[in-house]
Amino acid sequence: MISRVINEKDIDKVRNLLVGSDKIVITCHLTPDGDAIGSSLGLMHTLNAIGKNAVVVTPDLVPKSLQFLPGVKDTLAFTRHEEYVTRLLAEADLVFCLDFNESRRVDRMEPALLASKAPKVMIDHHLYPGDFADVIISHPEASSTSMLVFRVLCRLELFDRIDRRAAECIFTGMMTDTGNFSYNSNEPDLYTVIAELLRKGIDKDALYQRACNTFSESSLRLNGYALSEKMQIFPDHRCSLITLDENELARFNYEKGDTEGLVNRPLAMPEVVWSIYLRRDPNQIKISMRSKGQFPVNKVCSELFGGGGHLNAAGAEFKGSLRECVDILIQAMPAYDKYLPKTKNK
Ligand code: MN
Repeated sequence: MISRVINEKDIDKVRNLLVGSDKIVITCHLTPDGDAIGSSLGLMHTLNAIGKNAVVVTPDLVPKSLQFLPGVKDTLAFTRHEEYVTRLLAEADLVFCLDFNESRRVDRMEPALLASKAPKVMIDHHLYPGDFADVIISHPEASSTSMLVFRVLCRLELFDRIDRRAAECIFTGMMTDTGNFSYNSNEPDLYTVIAELLRKGIDKDALYQRACNTFSESSLRLNGYALSEKMQIFPDHRCSLITLDENELARFNYEKGDTEGLVNRPLAMPEVVWSIYLRRDPNQIKISMRSKGQFPVNKVCSELFGGGGHLNAAGAEFKGSLRECVDILIQAMPAYDKYLPKTKNK
């Protein structure tokens, strides 16, 4: 048995909404990660198993690295099927919004989502939920939305309807959002759920290999280059910084997702407490930060760039040059020294 973390009132609301719904649309945030698409597909398979007509729509394409998930071929990307997705949202009886808590996270699909008169259920684990949904199941302490979806399904007495495919999707989300259970992963319930998913027939080791340890040659070389040639260390601020510009990305035939996880790598060094990765995208600089302990990268991202996220994992966008972005960061570093641990744990 796992503990009951979601309050009964919200479960009742979801149960009642499901009773009256046939056409159900499930959606997640832009550039879906393993948790966003895993939670969506896990819910889709299970709702379809009880005879609902559930479909997953994504704001843009599911990255290649996650195309192995069962059911991904049936998902519809707004960027590819704008009219059809808009119609699905308009005609839906019920919409699930998974792994995001602000409507702007669906990007260009936002107007179609907000225009839909269907009741909306948010299931999410990011901080500070917005109020665009009718039912808000928001648990920032949860390690993944996929875990929350599993909890919701159990509370709806649908555990038996979770099949192997749904279990694979849910497990992938739990695994990717915890770095293969290497952070946010001390909750005992996590392992009870994994045991249950294994009993549903998932091949945990194969899912790890597919979702977390599959890289193209060029992406492996790009990551190696970034660490070898581009990683700067600022010992006084216990900070590391990696930047990749458009020429470097092109040289390694960069594709979306190729540098997934790169920002975590410098944290392998005990000296480094926060890690910054800046990537030149076509219209902006994509900023990713990770940290250890109490160093608040969400605060850094929000104060310097209007971004946000979690204490140890945050991001932002910057409209300007890579040089300007680096200058802002280097100038700001001393101001954040106060969050560094008091003693060096070498
Ligand atoms: Mn997530």
